[in-house]
Amino acid sequence: MRFLPALTALSLTTAGLVVTSAPAHAAPAAPTATGYGGAIATVDPTATAVGLKVLRDGGNAVDAAIAAAATLGVTEPFSAGIGGGGFFVHYDARTRRVQTIDGRETAPATAGEKYFIDPTDGLPYEFNEARVSGLSTGVPGTLATWESALKRWGTRSLASSLRPAAEVADKGFPVDATFRQQIADIQGAFGQFTSTRALYLPGGAPPAVGTIQRNPDLAATYRLIASKGTGVFYRGAVADDIVRTVQHPPIAADPTGTWAYPIRPGTLTRADLAGYRLRYPVPTRSGYRGLTVYGMSTPSSGGTAVGEALNIIEAGRPDLHHYLEASALAFADRNRYVGAYSKKSVLKKLISDDWAKQRACLIDPAKALVKPVPPGDLNGAGCTTATTGAPVEEGQSTTNLTVADRWGNVVEYTFTIEATGGNTMVVPGRGFLLNNELTDFNFTPTQGEAADPNLPGPGKRPRSSMSPTIVLKDGKPFLALGSPGGATIITTVLQVLVNRIDLGMTLPEAMAAPRASQRNSAGIQAEPAFRARYGPSLSPLGHTFAADVAELGAATAIEFTRGGGFIASAEPVRRGGGAAAVNSPIDDSTRGRP
Ligand code: GLU
Repeated sequence: MRFLPALTALSLTTAGLVVTSAPAHAAPAAPTATGYGGAIATVDPTATAVGLKVLRDGGNAVDAAIAAAATLGVTEPFSAGIGGGGFFVHYDARTRRVQTIDGRETAPATAGEKYFIDPTDGLPYEFNEARVSGLSTGVPGTLATWESALKRWGTRSLASSLRPAAEVADKGFPVDATFRQQIADIQGAFGQFTSTRALYLPGGAPPAVGTIQRNPDLAATYRLIASKGTGVFYRGAVADDIVRTVQHPPIAADPTGTWAYPIRPGTLTRADLAGYRLRYPVPTRSGYRGLTVYGMSTPSSGGTAVGEALNIIEAGRPDLHHYLEASALAFADRNRYVGAYSKKSVLKKLISDDWAKQRACLIDPAKALVKPVPPGDLNGAGCTTATTGAPVEEGQSTTNLTVADRWGNVVEYTFTIEATGGNTMVVPGRGFLLNNELTDFNFTPTQGEAADPNLPGPGKRPRSSMSPTIVLKDGKPFLALGSPGGATIITTVLQVLVNRIDLGMTLPEAMAAPRASQRNSAGIQAEPAFRARYGPSLSPLGHTFAADVAELGAATAIEFTRGGGFIASAEPVRRGGGAAAVNSPIDDSTRGRP
């Protein structure tokens, strides 16, 4: 999201919009920054400015990450916030360890395998029917993640980390084209709920670009949490309001806009919220051309899929043909074998070099495989395959941030409310949207006779694709990156890594380069520029393209240069462009040339 150069705040009468001065934390929206003393990249200049201030004031990477994340909850409310969950990856410069926090949402205790099957006809709900309901909401893990990260590795309190974000929510920020469009895209659902339309559909329409968006309810919620602690969210008044919203959605008697489906209540209870626990999985770890790649383990499939695909490329050739083939093979295995509760031995096997060889031997350098390719046979050897698992599609929302501090600590954090706008219900009086993360479960078994690794169940976490990744070289950080984009997260992270490590690009070039995503389907999903540039060389090999997609991902990354420097990198164009900043900038555009 990018600020407009000149602000002309309009006076409107709704709760969400009032006249105010320029935002407190406006900052220039440069997509690349080079320098020393700490670095941050997010999708939004206000969040980047808040995080940079924490770094400048002596806070560490975790302090800056949480302050920035809380701000993204205000300025990117349709992608992430305290109503959702995510995965936090941390490199500790002192111990040189990479550790993770799993703040994924959990299903209610009442969820069974048929959770998303309509009892009246025995058929699965359509995605949007399931999404805009109380059923899709899992217990949010984001706030617990922030608290835990600060306790483990931070130096500041949760209260002080929420303060700048509360100020942004109070004072407001200018609506840009991306923010307005995100509302317009889901206006039919937003208009169904009294709370959501009051905040985001002033006068029944999305706010105009340039108006000031305020969220006093969220400011008050952040301040309440700051004074009372996270207990108020998981066991107190906010928990009550979340449960009420899920069980009795705030449906307007006079909805603005139309919605094709009945809006079903959910069954989430106070006990579900009170029972929420973070997990601390050991990160996935794989070698790539002498580097060590750390990723997020289950319930995310990101770490194993990125690691497996890199291993397959390493066993083959460093080019786009192998990137696409490796990605298809890794997705076949991910769809078949990876869910939140996959056995450790299976996950270990999937990112082993032996497995990569078994899979890479299927790739013909001169001819593309026919997609979908079957998954590999876990008990086989050589070029054997098993039965196919069908993919599920995830949303296109989510946000990502990357932070490093002057001491060399690193945070890579991806968090989300799933689809853009989550389940589309703002918790009345609290100012945040609820997630629809449970739609990341498979609604019906996808594996034929074999066990499906991603069916709903009581207290279960749905499989994710989020891929916050930290790459070490000789035990020290070399690169950290992540992206939103549902299942395309995996291919975006993979492609940026291949661009940077194998294809001779600098990090900003690797981020800006046109993207393509081959998730084991007949046609490659590609941005128009990718197809125009590489189609002529890939099509003769047998690669086919599906309809173009305007853009894939909205990544952020940091590269660590020799002598303690940073190249912070956000998107130059996608999703309105992101914002990178460093503590002490240097003007050296040649740095980072591989
Ligand atoms: N729910 C998705 C996941 O966990 C993320 C949604 C998105 O990025 O759009 O993988």
